[in-house]
Parts: sequence; C-alpha cells; structure tokens
Amino acid sequence: AAPLDVDRIRADFPILGESVDGRPLAYLDSAATSQRPRQVIDAELEFVTRRNAAVHRGAHTLAALATDAFEDARAIVARFVGADEEQLVWTHGATEGLNLIAHSIEDASAQGVERFRLGPGDEIVTTEAEHHANLLPWQWLARRTGATLRHLPVLDDGRLDLDAAAAIIGPRTRLLTFAHVGNVLGIVNPVAELVALAHRHDALVVLDACQSVPHLPVDFPALDVDFAVFSGHKLLGPNAVGGLYGKAELLDALPPFLLGGSMITTVTLETAEFLPAPQRFEAGTQPVSQAVGLAAAAQYLDALDMDAVFAHEAHLGARLLDGLRGLPGIRLLGDADAPRVGLAAFDVEGVHAHDVGQFLDSRGIAVRVGHHCAQPLHRRFGITSTTRASSYVYTTDAEVDRFLEAVAEVRGFFGLGGGAAA
Ligand code: PMP
Repeated sequence: AAPLDVDRIRADFPILGESVDGRPLAYLDSAATSQRPRQVIDAELEFVTRRNAAVHRGAHTLAALATDAFEDARAIVARFVGADEEQLVWTHGATEGLNLIAHSIEDASAQGVERFRLGPGDEIVTTEAEHHANLLPWQWLARRTGATLRHLPVLDDGRLDLDAAAAIIGPRTRLLTFAHVGNVLGIVNPVAELVALAHRHDALVVLDACQSVPHLPVDFPALDVDFAVFSGHKLLGPNAVGGLYGKAELLDALPPFLLGGSMITTVTLETAEFLPAPQRFEAGTQPVSQAVGLAAAAQYLDALDMDAVFAHEAHLGARLLDGLRGLPGIRLLGDADAPRVGLAAFDVEGVHAHDVGQFLDSRGIAVRVGHHCAQPLHRRFGITSTTRASSYVYTTDAEVDRFLEAVAEVRGFFGLGGGAAA
C-alpha cells in the first residue's frame, strides 16, 4: 500500500487548523477521541439537511430515504470489519455493546439457553489491562450468575502473559474477553492464539476492538471471535454511535438487552415477539445521522487503505517509543518490542501526570492524563496515573518530535534533574 500522504490528509480535517494560545494545535489524543474529516462532517450535514426522518417506520418518502441511508451505512461499516450486515448491531458505543453482551448472556443463561449457560464453577476470563468498559460488565455478570471472574496477567513489558493464559483458560472457561489493542499499552495482542485457546475449550470470545479497528485492518470473521465491539468516535466518525459484531447463530440465540420500539414483530399486553438480529438489539430511536457519518469514515479509511494506516501508526508508535526511551526520568508502560499502534503512556518521575498534561498544553500539545479508565492496570504497575500520547492518520513526525522535545523539558521545568539540558 502507498504510504499515507499526511499533508493531504490534514487538509481534510478543519480542526487541525486550530491554535492553542497562539501555538498550532498538536492533537495527540486520538485514542480518547479522533477528529473528523470534512467528508464525515459533510455526510452528516447532508443527511440532516436533506434526509432526516425516523427510520423503519414512516410510509413517506423522506422516511424511506432515511431508512436506505441508515441501512446502506450498516452494510458499509459491516464490510469494513469483514462482516455481513445482519451481523452488525448499531449501538451508542463500545460501552453499550459490552453491556449489551453481558446483560443478554445473563438473560439467556437464566432462560436455560445452553450456549450461554453460566453458573457457579464456570469462569469468565478477562485481563489486567482492560478498560473499565470491558471489566465492569463482566464483574456484574459474574456476580449475577455466580460464575468466577479471572484475569490474565500482564508481563512487566506490557505483553499479556500467554503462559499464564494457557494455564488459566481451561475447561471451566465459558467466556474470554480482552482488548485487541490496549488503550494504555498500545500493543496489538495476539488474538489468534487467545481465540484458539478459548475455542479449544468451547468458550465464547468477546473482543474489545475499540483501539484496533481504527488503526489496523480488522476482519472479525477471519479472527473467529464470537462478539466484538468498537466505537465510531475513535474511528474518524461521530460520537454516540458504535458497532457490535456477533456471529449470526449467536446473535440469533441471544435475547435482547433493551426493550421497546423498533425491535418487535407482535406485542400483546402480556407478551412480545422480537425481530431477528440486528433489529432485535436496536430498541428505540437509532443513531441515524451518526451511522451515516460513521459509514463515511469507513469509506475514508478504506480509500487510505488500512494496511497503510497501520504502517503509519507503527512508524509513529516506534518514534514515540524510541524518543521516550531516550529520556531520563521517564517510565514507559508497555515497553515491549511488540506490534503496536501510535500510542504511549508514561510516568514522569517526580511530576504528577496532570502537571505534565498542563505543561504540554501550554505548548499547544493535547494529550490525555489520568488512569485512562484502567485503574487495575495502573495499580499493577504501582502508579495511579500516566500521560498518554496517541496518534492517527493526520499525525506528523514533526508533531511527535515537538511532543518529545516538550517532554524532555518537563522535569527541568519542575525543578528536577534530567531536564532540557540532559
Ligand atoms: N475499550 C477501550 C479499549 C477503549 O479505549 C474505550 C474508550 N476509551 C472503550 C472501551 C469505551 O468506549 P466508549 O467510551 O466509546 O464506549
């Protein structure tokens, strides 16, 4: 694939022309939320300007146009992750998708659906590195069913401990869930090995693909995961929209999470019958203009070519890592020489992450500070917060270098050694 033409890409993103206190904005917070190109903004604008209506309901022309736009968007986004359109459920984001899976499994288990049976003695396995969105729903599911929640450990260099995984994942395992790419470590986890381990024991696999779908080519059926989730706002798309992928036979066997309009065939005062997937999981008024925007984002990324996107990310990831490794007083989380995206979280010895973030902001550099919704992972490394820089298709080498130069000054600025002069 041809390398990304970053200058041309940047011209598509109006917000990148903004400045912060007179300094050009260096946006290094794309893992929290990405920016939208003109093409996505225009697609949303065109939809709300000319085609906005409630979908799957009205008899009128506008409703039909809106429904077509909504379902076309589903087909485009499904294809982007290798799926068929009936395997893609619209959600409001990854968090909702993960809660949907956990709640629906609990309901299925309570109804005695064998594939989703969970009870005392069964195990749900996740990892120490998860975003809270991929931890709390499983804590809830374990509590509700009496199953035990177990955690794959993270090695000192940030990789998942696969030896431990082989020992933990076993005949009691009913479900394994983990992030494809961690939002703090940035490492691409070995999906194939973990899926093979889980499937050897007939366990379901749920993949949190929030940080992978935006940055590398991802094909859920090829990965053979049973369920997967992602968010639009990290994918050059709008917020309040996301996708839930499921294998067709599993979605068909799973009861709905939210109940209400748009998901039924027949309702009496006592009972209700539900539509097949994906509509069964889309109760209420759908995020229509957001879905249209997300489809435009998928097309934009397709045109760039996801292999080229990953090459760009891997390049920036290596540049971030190399740069940070060379700085005194910096401790990187997830230092492994493993496949990674353009993301690095680190601790500056003696300086609170919030101070680091404020210092960088004074230079026009936007990063994320805190625990990044991964408190157990920070605890595992004996710290409470880090500073995280993350890149995307519009990030330049020069921005990464500007960031590294500013980080090199932090300790000196706060009166500690190893500062700018080092
Ligand atoms: N999982 C991971 C790995 C994430 O990075 C995020 C977002 N930070 C989420 C889940 C939750 O996504 P959302 O807030 O879009 O629902």
